[in-house]
Amino acid sequence: MQGNYDRTTFYRSFKTLEESKIIHKIVVDNLLVKYAIDISATNKHKHAHFYCNECNKVVCLDSVAIQKPILPDGYSEVETEMIIKGVCKYCKQTDIQQN
Ligand SMILES: [Zn+2]
Ligand SMILES: [Zn+2]
Repeated sequence: MQGNYDRTTFYRSFKTLEESKIIHKIVVDNLLVKYAIDISATNKHKHAHFYCNECNKVVCLDSVAIQKPILPDGYSEVETEMIIKGVCKYCKQTDIQQN
């Protein structure tokens, strides 16, 4: 079935998923956009994301809430993203095992 891969259909269903908030877009930088699957339907609040430099995975940090920024007069917030870059706990574990 892999040869019959329909790109358009995939993109469309992907958009639907994003719009229904099952997945959300995480912009790591201009070249890298990741998607996260919301496992819990209750976790719809704004949260920070962690990008691992070792395994290139993005994790939702539901426990890290994003503060509403205090903006100068005349500026209004639409979206605030928070990406923390570093090494995730799984890659840290691997490091310890190797040493
Ligand atoms: Zn990692
Ligand atoms: Zn997330």
